[in-house]
Amino acid sequence: MRGIKIKPLFHGNMHCDKSLLITGHPDLMLTKSNHTKNSVWCETPSFTYIIEHPDGRMLFDASIHKHWEDDWLPEYKELAPYDDYTEEQQFEGALKAAGLGPEDIDFVFLSHLHVDHAGNAKLFDTANTTQILCHEDEYAAAANMDKDEHFFLRGDYDVPGLRFSTLPGDIEIMKDIHAISLPGHTAGTMALKIQLEHSGTIILTSDACYLKESYDDEVGSMIGASLEQWGHSMRKLKMMARAENATVIPGHDHNICHEGHAPLRDEPKLRVGGEYD
Ligand SMILES: [Zn+2]
Repeated sequence: MRGIKIKPLFHGNMHCDKSLLITGHPDLMLTKSNHTKNSVWCETPSFTYIIEHPDGRMLFDASIHKHWEDDWLPEYKELAPYDDYTEEQQFEGALKAAGLGPEDIDFVFLSHLHVDHAGNAKLFDTANTTQILCHEDEYAAAANMDKDEHFFLRGDYDVPGLRFSTLPGDIEIMKDIHAISLPGHTAGTMALKIQLEHSGTIILTSDACYLKESYDDEVGSMIGASLEQWGHSMRKLKMMARAENATVIPGHDHNICHEGHAPLRDEPKLRVGGEYD
């Protein structure tokens, strides 16, 4: 639709073993003829997206909070440290550099409630017109956890003042912006499908599809609520992407950060730092 614009914000990198993201991928397995392949300590970028729409401004995901080192459980820091970023890249700095504060955002769409996607939702506790959107199953699963585990931190979303509106499944939020239910990574992981006038259909997958390999080779992750459900969701994503000739933007693909690589359709205009309409 005319008048929608997407601006990606890059917040620096976490790092983790690549096999955490694509568990059991053939490229990472030792074989009879190759016993010497090493694991890969993989750059794992954090992105959010500002989506300008004539009916409101949406933020897709909320990245990692600046106090992650104090707040994260030791196993989160050990498995996937957020260890490569500048103050300007960090969420609050990047939002400010975009000329925005929490009160300027009408909707915060949280693809899911993991620490690296919901970390700054709490900044919206005093923005009293901002609605926080996530899938109702995600909210229910997270709200019912009796301790922090599996990359969730209740302090990210169980915050007085946050105005959560939960979504029941696939739904159009504003004209040509659709929430797409892709459970499996977590109970209620959602992608966002945006139909742009010039750039065509873009699907921001978040962690429903970590990397290009997750998509091309349909390899899931050991981090996840249900691998079987993840597979169903991946096939739904692919069907939708093919039917609409969409550009798919994976959640944590380091190649998208670097010149010479594009998301999952040859669309040279789509790069971090660009603006798409
Ligand atoms: Zn996640």
